[in-house]
Amino acid sequence: CGIVGYIGNKDCKEILIKGLEKLEYRGYDSAGIALLNDDGVHIFKEKGRIADLRASVDEAVYGEIGIGHTRWATHGKPSKTNAHPHQSTSGRFTIVHNGVIENYEHLKQQFLQNKSLKSDTDTEVIVQVIEHFVEDGMDVQRAFRETLKHLKGSYALALLDKENGNVIYVGKNKSPLLVGVGNGFNVVASDAMAMLQVTKQFLELMDQETVVVTKDRVEIFNLDGEKIEREPFTAELDA
Ligand code: GLU
Repeated sequence: CGIVGYIGNKDCKEILIKGLEKLEYRGYDSAGIALLNDDGVHIFKEKGRIADLRASVDEAVYGEIGIGHTRWATHGKPSKTNAHPHQSTSGRFTIVHNGVIENYEHLKQQFLQNKSLKSDTDTEVIVQVIEHFVEDGMDVQRAFRETLKHLKGSYALALLDKENGNVIYVGKNKSPLLVGVGNGFNVVASDAMAMLQVTKQFLELMDQETVVVTKDRVEIFNLDGEKIEREPFTAELDA
């Protein structure tokens, strides 16, 4: 299981799918990607192999920003419905998540009494709580951090906001996640192997950090919104 994300200056379908193939060794039962463009969010997901996902992706959909996932089911059986990405009720937010949220039932009771959930996953609760906080008046970055503060468990997360095609929000706790730094683009993934196709420059992330990733900036914050400075390193690895 694992996640990937890309934001930049060219179509990223192939980069995402190739990235997911590099994460295959981590094990998975389903896979999916989301692409964001001026028409909205386009989700492709399938139970089974990445080859099946690849076959289901509409070649005509173009996206310079996207996220992807290979799932190893922990909450909810392997199925197309439970495969990631997952969306909030309004469709504004789209998320991929690697890890386990231990208190998701509690969060559902606390914040989501009025929402009907579409999947059986712990992951959908995360994206719904983010939307809940935004509906409550928080800006998206704050809602993202606030949600992460409430999560107990492990996560590597990437979030798309349909109303802002210039950014991917990323967060990590006890699940692996790295940012790959490019020229005119940036990527994120659970493993550097998934990003060597486009870069060898990486930024390490610590637990309970969030990252605001645009095509030419990577800004790291702790959960209190304080900025963290860190320099990228160059990996001596071959694709
Ligand atoms: N707990 C999540 C699920 O069951 C994510 C599993 C994973 O890391 O692939 O959907």
